[in-house]
Amino acid sequence: MATPLTAAQMLTALKTEGLTVHEHAGWETHNRDAATGKPFGPVIGVLIHHTAGHGDKELCYNGRSDLPGPLCHAWLGKTDGLWTIANGRANHAGAVDLDVLNALRAEKSPLPVDNQANADGNDVLYGLEIENLGNGKDPYPDDQYGQAVLWAAAICRAHGWSENSVAGHKEVQPGKVDPSFDMDDFRADVKKQLALSVGKSAPAKPTKPSKPTKPTKPTTGSASKPRVDLSRLVQAAKTDPTAKQGHVTYMAGTNLTEAALVKLGYLAKTYAGDGSFGTTTIAAYAKWQRHLGYTGGEADGIPGKISLGKLGDKTGLFTVVA
Ligand SMILES: [Zn+2]
Repeated sequence: MATPLTAAQMLTALKTEGLTVHEHAGWETHNRDAATGKPFGPVIGVLIHHTAGHGDKELCYNGRSDLPGPLCHAWLGKTDGLWTIANGRANHAGAVDLDVLNALRAEKSPLPVDNQANADGNDVLYGLEIENLGNGKDPYPDDQYGQAVLWAAAICRAHGWSENSVAGHKEVQPGKVDPSFDMDDFRADVKKQLALSVGKSAPAKPTKPSKPTKPTKPTTGSASKPRVDLSRLVQAAKTDPTAKQGHVTYMAGTNLTEAALVKLGYLAKTYAGDGSFGTTTIAAYAKWQRHLGYTGGEADGIPGKISLGKLGDKTGLFTVVA
């Protein structure tokens, strides 16, 4: 529970975190507090959305015929950067699950399942709309995703919250699917960002420091890289070879692993991309393990944490979650 940041405090928090902030004209007094008679706050967390559209900054400011703006506190363009849209109550969360709100308030993890819509999320949550179609095919550029992490971290830091005060719309309101990326991953990235000390090292009165202490963006490069789940991949490597030809246990992870093996020359391209971790893939992976110095049963073609991590790093195609 906390008093919402003032416009000035919000700007300071965002900039201290390392964000370049664009201010939408009028944002400092743009809210739904007077219209609804319900003042914003006390606040308990931040909510992440995708817009399901493109070029929708003004829509988020003005609202739609059925839902008056502002529709978020900040809008994050694919290439247009971060824009402050509202200061106060915004129409972004809607009716949400009270159990989830209580868990966010207590910073409990994991969040309970959102199976009710019995509380007003607009009372207590800051909202970020990320410009993305949300169809699973529209990518989030590294820079955009990194700024979303910084936005969430900035507000958490300003309030003294942990990453467990961050949720996706899909986690609080039944039927919502946004954002179209994994929120556990996102929270892990916010946690990393919060571990950096940005505020303390920032000079109180900067006299044009040669290099301001901006946080290194922890997200660039790895955060929006696809992830391969080691345990699921091992399951695939143990299941697919003896199952029916072309059996698929873990399509995405297998395809990424095969793509990496192709890139390094251990697997012929014709065998990659069907999502099945078959005997040819086992043999190719064993070659990679031998290349790393493993022998005998250590080079059995079943991925291990170290060999898979190195494969992802060397090719730049994925990171590993264990
Ligand atoms: Zn949403």
